[in-house]
Amino acid sequence: MADVDKIKEILKKKYPNPKIELNFSNPFELLIATILSAQAQDVRVNKVTENLFKKLKTPEDYVNLGEDNLAEEIKSINYYKNKAKNIIKCCEILAKKYNNKVPETLEELVELPGIGRKTANVILGLGFNKPVIIVDTHVKRVSKRLGLTNENDPQKIEFDLMEKIPKNYWTEFSLAAILHGRYTCKARKPNCGNCVFNEICDKNV
Ligand code: SF4
Repeated sequence: MADVDKIKEILKKKYPNPKIELNFSNPFELLIATILSAQAQDVRVNKVTENLFKKLKTPEDYVNLGEDNLAEEIKSINYYKNKAKNIIKCCEILAKKYNNKVPETLEELVELPGIGRKTANVILGLGFNKPVIIVDTHVKRVSKRLGLTNENDPQKIEFDLMEKIPKNYWTEFSLAAILHGRYTCKARKPNCGNCVFNEICDKNV
């Protein structure tokens, strides 16, 4: 049985101020960056958005640019054609239905093309400062190995973690677990020897 208080204490010490590695300056930029980041490296996304965000500021700007031109702008990113299509469809809805704003509820966000539950939670947590549990591949793996959940389904993991982790630590926990999974508790070769959890981890590898 995982000691949640201990896990929180260790995580907070190791990752006192965890941040997402995508660059953005408002919820709309975060939405675009998260759609682009699916199956792609954050560094590559940041390189593309550095130019993109200078030129395009609102959903309407993307709609006016059009799918083909957008695809050209983002072609160094995996699945760029599909992502360009989703971004344009998404921006059309934001422009028409939400007056060029990003909606602030999970229900509305997951209705948008290219936005799943995980992405919606990223936007709510980091764009709007709402408490959220973000379950990506790293959070899933780290939580299972630490014994915080036995579930496989991301939504069930999210609910499990919501029950166990204090609400005021949800978003920070998610960001810290992402970093821990990315750099230490890696999928193939977890670096248990150098891990801050080595003494207490269930190592459900
Ligand atoms: S001890 Fe190993 S399995 Fe447990 S969290 Fe650390 S790296 Fe992952």
